[in-house]
Amino acid sequence: MDIKKFKKRAAGNKGRLKKFLAKLDRIVPEDMPKLVKETDARVWKAVDCLACANCCKTMTPTYTASDLKRIAAHFNMSVKAFKDKWLMQDEDNGDWVNKTTPCQFLNLKTNKCSIYEIRPLDCSQFPHHNKKPFDLYNDTFTQNLDKCPATNELILQLEKSVKQDYVW
Ligand code: SF4
Ligand code: SF4
Repeated sequence: MDIKKFKKRAAGNKGRLKKFLAKLDRIVPEDMPKLVKETDARVWKAVDCLACANCCKTMTPTYTASDLKRIAAHFNMSVKAFKDKWLMQDEDNGDWVNKTTPCQFLNLKTNKCSIYEIRPLDCSQFPHHNKKPFDLYNDTFTQNLDKCPATNELILQLEKSVKQDYVW
């Protein structure tokens, strides 16, 4: 995937898609869950995460207490030693996050996660397209419009369908 090209496209459509998502906060089409499910399935046929990994390269997951326990145990480390080595606390909300990007667990040659089976819950749910109700996560999607090609494409296609099929 050409991330530079994606960034350019995202810079061009971010403002418009942001407005669409803001409006979706107020007006939710009746069959939104079905529309999101079908559109999302189409999006993933065209997007290959292994050709991208932009999330792992530029963002950090948040680690839950259970993530910390599971991943630290995998490395035979105490939770404290694991935190000391790789994490810091977010100043705003106290969440445990990576100290640096790209993520220390990303293999930069293959774009694969080296702890895929035990990765943080946040990673396994990213980019959160399956969250319900979908419109409750509009802020997350807005933030990720220029970070995740799959999110950008999903919102782009939803905008097209909604504008075509509804009085909007
Ligand atoms: S989830 Fe989005 S940002 Fe992450 S690798 Fe897949 S397409 Fe890229
Ligand atoms: S833990 Fe794995 S999936 Fe999560 S950000 Fe790091 S490399 Fe990516």
